[in-house]
Amino acid sequence: MTATASQDEQLWARCAGCASLLYRKRLRRNLDVCPECGAHTRLSAPERLRQIVDPDTFTPLPDRPVAIDPIGFVDAVPYPQRLAAARAGTGLGEAVVCGTARIGGHPVALAVMDFRFLGGSLGCAVGELITLAAERALADGIPLVLVTASGGARMQEGALSLMQMATVSQAIAGLREAGLLTVSVVTDPTYGGVAASFATNTDVVLAETGARMGFAGPRVIRQVTGRALPEGFQTAEFLLRHGQVDMVVTRRALRGRLTVLLAAAHAGRAAARRRGVPGQEPAADAAGGDRTTPAATAVDGDPWETVRAARHPGRPTTLDYLDTAFDGFVELHGDRLGRDCPAVVGGLARLDGRHVMVIGHQKGHTTGELVARNFGMASPAGHRKALRLMRLAARLGLPVVTLVDTPGADPGVGAEEQGQAAAIAENILALSVLPTPVVAVVTGEGGSGGALALAVADRVLMLQRAVYSVISPEGCAAILWPDSSAAPQAARALRLTAADLCRIGVADEMVAEPPGGTQADPAAAAELLRAAVLANLTPLLDVPAATLVRRRRQRFRRFGAARLGAGAGAR
Ligand SMILES: [Zn+2]
Repeated sequence: MTATASQDEQLWARCAGCASLLYRKRLRRNLDVCPECGAHTRLSAPERLRQIVDPDTFTPLPDRPVAIDPIGFVDAVPYPQRLAAARAGTGLGEAVVCGTARIGGHPVALAVMDFRFLGGSLGCAVGELITLAAERALADGIPLVLVTASGGARMQEGALSLMQMATVSQAIAGLREAGLLTVSVVTDPTYGGVAASFATNTDVVLAETGARMGFAGPRVIRQVTGRALPEGFQTAEFLLRHGQVDMVVTRRALRGRLTVLLAAAHAGRAAARRRGVPGQEPAADAAGGDRTTPAATAVDGDPWETVRAARHPGRPTTLDYLDTAFDGFVELHGDRLGRDCPAVVGGLARLDGRHVMVIGHQKGHTTGELVARNFGMASPAGHRKALRLMRLAARLGLPVVTLVDTPGADPGVGAEEQGQAAAIAENILALSVLPTPVVAVVTGEGGSGGALALAVADRVLMLQRAVYSVISPEGCAAILWPDSSAAPQAARALRLTAADLCRIGVADEMVAEPPGGTQADPAAAAELLRAAVLANLTPLLDVPAATLVRRRRQRFRRFGAARLGAGAGAR
């Protein structure tokens, strides 16, 4: 009777999500995701490895079993006894399994935590093993992937456990300095000291569907605040909405997502190595220096008409271009500080096979879309997301392409409270010294500081019907004319068309649009944009970073009044 019951237990499992009785083999075939309700059941570290690495490529790091009881901790059961029971119960030496492997053909170092082992708690041995994995990544020049599942620091090892948060973070910092990609995959549950260190201080944070992550656990928060917690608190979707994670990924999609990230990092590293060769400065001083003639001609008619054309809701948006002019876009989300701004989108993509980071303002075509995207007006969180992605691109050696289309930065009360001015300022500063090629394209409206926050670039392109201006014509008219009905006059006076800005050197090149504008033939518009970005980006790819930055500074320095007086404005 007992034997039968235990055999049944091995054959069948009850889903914690929907209570369905599931045949274990079927569940395993489905990556331990309930086929009925989609609930992701917890995985052991060995099973997780089996699912994400290429078959037969995992090599464990040399692992010395550590007998450790640094503070002689005793609760109901002495700590060594608990440790022995965890080892016997899991077949593992500790709460993490580390090694090297390949994912989608790309070599990586991995550390995968196992929640079954004392709640995946972070003790001295766990910290040491993850640090060794990070050091191995550094020595081999390969990315590090961490899969977290932990209740937090291990109480039984006292303050020494707390110190592991710093130890591992230090190792992550070493990889960051070396331009090696670090990715964490947050799985259920990830809390406390692990959440507050290597689960979130990596370059890219993925949350598996169904994962919950937080610093404090829900029970503690309820106790302290005496309040009920909101629906979906600390779930993967909550974390995404609050800018804490780059994306939520189903277990089935995880391997594919990791492969894309690793491929981009691999390409960036090769490119950075090429650019990093000192003394290889190309002779031509301006990249694409022989392309000073605008590729497109000025649109006829009144500048006010151009302003209206630039605002046409049918014009392709950044996401449209990502879908047509680029390939394989993987969107990264969040400012890591509490928000994800819908008016700015960004992530990894390929342009004609080259890996790039694309960041742009996102408007929409319908009123609903425009409202959801705040009309493409970025909040401070949007600027901080852009900043995070620019810096990530530079670290990984990937060029940045920005698509500018905004009436201006969000002018709301909340934006002011969250430091809109400083957020824009920081982006301008960061872009001016970003050690990687940057090509900006004004695709519609280039509104003021909000536009410049994405447009301090090596090459600034403008679509034929785009405009770029210090203030909207309406705003200018309201201030300098008797009333805002003078907007058309202001539009003429501001010199905001692509032709005008190419003439004074603010833009380098005008990009042709299909007859009737980009909205008349979005596919043709995408092809024109793709070709223009490629032509401008390609010559920059082999320029050493220091040269790029020096030229970028010169590019903007020449707008100084003294230079204009010397005739540079006639360029
Ligand atoms: Zn289920």
